[in-house]
Order: sequence, then structure tokens, then C-alpha cells
Amino acid sequence: MKPSVYKYDQLEVHGVSSAGTGTCLTVPRLKMAIDTAQGWPFVYPMNHLFLTHAHIDHAGGVAYIVSQRGLMGLRDLKIYMLPELQKPIRKILNTWQELEGFDYSYEIVPVESGDRVKIDEYHYVQPFQTVHRVPSQGYALFQQKKKLKAEFHGKNSHQLADLRRQGVALEDVWYEPQFGYTGDTDIRFMDHCDPEILKTQSLFVDCTYWDDKKSIEHAMEWGHIHLDQLIERAGEFLGERLVLTHASRRYKKSDLEEILSRSIPLQFRSHFIHFP
Ligand SMILES: [Zn+2]
Repeated sequence: MKPSVYKYDQLEVHGVSSAGTGTCLTVPRLKMAIDTAQGWPFVYPMNHLFLTHAHIDHAGGVAYIVSQRGLMGLRDLKIYMLPELQKPIRKILNTWQELEGFDYSYEIVPVESGDRVKIDEYHYVQPFQTVHRVPSQGYALFQQKKKLKAEFHGKNSHQLADLRRQGVALEDVWYEPQFGYTGDTDIRFMDHCDPEILKTQSLFVDCTYWDDKKSIEHAMEWGHIHLDQLIERAGEFLGERLVLTHASRRYKKSDLEEILSRSIPLQFRSHFIHFP
């Protein structure tokens, strides 16, 4: 399985996404993945694995990934998930470990909305609330931003270096959401999540149903989003890109592109991207 590649600004995401078949997204530069699909090789090198929920098309590959990493001698895997998923996921991993007859190397870390997981000096991941048929949450990657404080504008590089040596904090530092993925959810995640999430530069969202082959009511019943719901609330997304994932297999790629060009109002057209 060769992953699709999404690039925007400094972000590069590799992944696959198809409703009911398999979804996983990785940020290779940071060795992080969200969901596992069936456990494809491009996920093995990721050390931070976040699970949105335990439907098999999203989390079914977890044992495969842990096992393959073991055979490859890869260590330091952390698997992040809602607290209520710890016990059943550990049970699955223990069962496979016993059947395979070698020790798996991984750590399960329970996380929920409001927590922050440090990825490196410049990035953290924050879980956020979503609404699905089973316990679920999305994840957003925040990136550090820095700017020289206004009071130091006009100083030359020697003066700044002197101040830095004296231990003066020269820059304002803050974090902005660069990449996020909702996992499976219905549209109400927009009302439940931290409002910062709606500012994510590239927000990957569940968009399972795209036209009148399936109604909004059907989407709500199955805990998914219909494209019409995203269009109706497009003005509430304050990021730059809304990346539509998890399309139902009933649509061909060409259908999806055609629906996008036909249905998205002109002012939002460059914001909506389909990710296969
Ligand atoms: Zn699901």
C-alpha cells in the first residue's frame, strides 16, 4: 500500500483514508501517526501512535504494527488512546503476544481532551472531543511560533546577542494548531471541541457522504459528516485548509472532484481539499 501525500506550508502528511476499509495518517518528520488502518509498512517507523476510536478500519492494525516493529528491532512506541480503550487494546496485544511467543515493546498512554502530549521541543499534540457511535476523540498537532518582542525591534544582531547572553527573553513564544484529524465524528464535534481546533491550518475531517445518495439524517445516524453540513458551517473554520477524508467507497475519485467543484461556494473553494 503506497500512501497518498498531502503537502501544505511546512506540513507533510502521508496516509490512506477510505470509509469502512482503512484510515491512517502519518507525519513522518515527527514520527507520529493517527490511527492504523490495517497496519501498513509506512506506519512502522512512527514512535507516537494516536488512536481516535476502536472501529477496526481505524485501529485494527495496532497489533500488526507492534509485532512488525518488534521483528525490526524498533523500540520506544507510545500508543495514545482514550482511558476506556486501554484495557481492551492491551488484551488484544497480550493475546497476540502470547500467540506469537515473543515480547512486544510498547507503552499505552491514556489521554483525553485537555491533555498535551509533547512530541519534541517545538510540537505537542492535543486530543479534542468528537461525537461518534463509540468513544472517540480527534488530535491536533500544535507547532511553536516565535517573534521578536516589539521592545527589541531596531536593535542590531550584536546587541541582541548580548541581551541573549544576559538571559533576557527576546521573543514572544506561542503555539498554533498546524495539523488535526477528527477521526470518525458527526458534525457536533464543532460545538464540543476546544475552539482553537477550528483554527487548525490543515484540518482533516470525516466527510463520508458527499451528495444526495445519502442524507444528512443517515450521516447523523452513523456518526459521520455529510459534505452539505461542512458547507453550511464553512465560515466557522478559521484555518486555511479543510481536508476531506473517509469518503464512502460508493464514490469514485472523479465523482468526488466533480462534486467538490460543483457544490463548494466560490469563496470557500480553495479551502476544501479531498484526501484519498
Ligand atoms: Zn468509526
